[in-house]
Amino acid sequence: MPISLEERYARQVLFPPIGTAGQQRLAAARVAIVGCGATGSVVASLLVRAGAGVVRLIDRDYVEPGNLHRQLLFDEADAEQALPKAVAAGRRLASANRAVQVEPVVTDLVAGNIHGLLAGFHLFMDGTDNFETRYLINDYAVQQGIPWIYCGAVGSSGTTMNIRPGQNACLSCIWPEPPSGGLETCDTAGILNSAAAAIASIGATEALKLLTGCEGEMRGTVLSLDLWTGQRAEVRVARAPSCRTCGQRDFRHLQPALRTPVTLCGRNSVQVHERNQELDLMEIETRLRPHGSVRRNEFVLKFCRESYEITLFRDGRAVIKGTTDHGVARSLYARYIGC
Ligand SMILES: [Zn+2]
Repeated sequence: MPISLEERYARQVLFPPIGTAGQQRLAAARVAIVGCGATGSVVASLLVRAGAGVVRLIDRDYVEPGNLHRQLLFDEADAEQALPKAVAAGRRLASANRAVQVEPVVTDLVAGNIHGLLAGFHLFMDGTDNFETRYLINDYAVQQGIPWIYCGAVGSSGTTMNIRPGQNACLSCIWPEPPSGGLETCDTAGILNSAAAAIASIGATEALKLLTGCEGEMRGTVLSLDLWTGQRAEVRVARAPSCRTCGQRDFRHLQPALRTPVTLCGRNSVQVHERNQELDLMEIETRLRPHGSVRRNEFVLKFCRESYEITLFRDGRAVIKGTTDHGVARSLYARYIGC
């Protein structure tokens, strides 16, 4: 017996600011969540269970054992199979609420594909772990006039802000340049699962306001919380008239550039994306078997040789563990996958 919508959302509709009208608006909403890690998992779970109409999950990574303490949508079987996070999250969410159209996309969001992946959505949620992608989202959101919600967590703290183009400050109004070096990450400072969940919950609540027609109640501040000390800081930030992005409308992060391999979040690994075409993982498995140990599922192939582990995605991307040297990573890719 399918669950009726009245029954499913009864307690949410009872909350006066949402009501039946708000619930209906939410059902017509299209939300794209970029990154399905600690914050993205919680945002996705809350918005799918709340009844957003379409939720697209974009993630480039696969589930590992070290994710399980904070990435609430994944379990041990997902890590054992090294399932792409978008796929694992999509399966879990589809079983939580069949009334929502959940769209997993296994890819790295970049300037070359952002228009295709985000066009037609009403809101973008930040579940990423890096500023390169956040500036990309900010440029696209301001250019298109679509709101997005920044959420970041590290250690016991989290920070979130709503960016509504034309209404309040954008990311570049506050930080004109992406931070370079010296920034704490989950790999240097660790992270509490509660900090990520708290900041994601606040972001998801702001999303609910926007998508149920309570836009006027959204915060216009940058909010930071420390779950361990209980400290809270909230700063109202005005738009900078000289802002390169929302003032001068210079969207340089949207220029497709020749990208070099990207070092992932401090894990002794490098992502290589030399090519952008579908690979036949079954054929590659046969070819690599004499050279090391190979495991494969429908979405990824893992190849281990000496101290290196290459995880290859169908779109041609590879995450190479065991080095932070771009040259070594490139040469391993060329040798075993081919250019
Ligand atoms: Zn701005």
